Amino acid sequence: MSNCVFCSIIQKEIPTQIVYEDSFSLAFLDIHPASKGHTLVIPKNHYEFLSQIPEHEYIAFMKTLQKIAKGMMHYTEGINILQNNGKDAGQLVPHVHFHIIPRRPGDGIKIETWRTQHDPDLDKVQKTIQSLLKD
Ligand code: AMP
Ligand code: ZN
Repeated sequence: MSNCVFCSIIQKEIPTQIVYEDSFSLAFLDIHPASKGHTLVIPKNHYEFLSQIPEHEYIAFMKTLQKIAKGMMHYTEGINILQNNGKDAGQLVPHVHFHIIPRRPGDGIKIETWRTQHDPDLDKVQKTIQSLLKD
């Protein structure tokens, strides 16, 4: 897509620090890292949401994500893998990307910021979500 910053990175129109590349995937350093080594892993084809990736590409992409995650576990002993889907979930760049954020003891990064709540509707919610997974 012509106005997508990540497509421009894939096309090498915008310089970035690429750490891995194969037929379906690209991994590069986040320009505003949450921690040293913060890496983004993206599919080379443009999809806004995870749900839009065709199955064969998704499988290849997941294999690559795991390969990079394995490598990053040698960089630091802990990593968070995050993927924001949609504006409401904090997705700023509308091209699927996984964040791999290396963690270090005492780094102060707050990933787990949600407050838990009591939900009296768990059974209802279960049925609703189950019904959405039919196709
Ligand atoms: P998200 O909020 O999940 O959409 O995250 C988008 C991420 O893309 C942010 O962490 C940005 O720092 C990163 N980003 C945006 N533009 C670039 C770029 N040109 N090179 C590397 N990372 C970028
Ligand atoms: Zn794109």
